[in-house]
Amino acid sequence: MILVIIMISAFTACIAEEIPEEALNRLKEHCYINPDGGERLHTDQSCRSVHEKYLPLTEVEFSDELLKQYSLCPVCTLADEPQEEPAAPADPALVISEAELNRITAEWEKQYGDYRKWDYQVNAAFVSEAGTLPDTPYVFDKSVLPIMPDEDAIPAEEIAGKAIPLAASYGSRLAEDALKDMQVIVSQYRKPDNDVYLFSTTGSWLISFWDNDNIVAWMYVDAHTGVPSFLNIVPDCISFQGEPGVEGIHYEE
Ligand SMILES: [Zn+2]
Repeated sequence: MILVIIMISAFTACIAEEIPEEALNRLKEHCYINPDGGERLHTDQSCRSVHEKYLPLTEVEFSDELLKQYSLCPVCTLADEPQEEPAAPADPALVISEAELNRITAEWEKQYGDYRKWDYQVNAAFVSEAGTLPDTPYVFDKSVLPIMPDEDAIPAEEIAGKAIPLAASYGSRLAEDALKDMQVIVSQYRKPDNDVYLFSTTGSWLISFWDNDNIVAWMYVDAHTGVPSFLNIVPDCISFQGEPGVEGIHYEE
């Protein structure tokens, strides 16, 4: 019995040692879980590692018991810097009625096909006519909508040619072989006013990878350095946020 108690306290001590004090203090202030099967403790109520259908997360009172049941979220709780509140406006603004947007989209699709596979030029032109993208009548921040690329950006054709090795550089699971038959579309050029988005404020390419009509992955690449900043593998529900070499974040299901 004594041995068990010693082992338990050693185990608890070990856990306590591994948790940075900063993280523990933040958890004591605010501690969130996804009660619908989540496995981690979060300090950010809208943690980006959690699928948006489970947001906002549920606040719970922090206790040592929770540490035994849950692991700590590497994205918010164990992050070096506490997550700042996003600077984006809280409420999206209606740009165009849904009916009108659908009407214009249908018209453009007659000429350019499935809107999901439009390239950056068609998307930029569409935005300048409709004021928004085909599937988003509400927009948080207009500065994040696609525009035509800056003159000094890496050309779309060049970035398209590098897209598969760039995506593969995130990990061996994305061997170039697996992607080589995918259709690569340079979908958008974005240049938001602020850096709460995963796009560079000096310009990023959004590139999508397609297996016939199914999107398999999408990636953001800095349009001036050519370095990717984000990759999402759709069938795996996994994202890599940051330059290649970062660990993937699985969305909680
Ligand atoms: Zn989190």
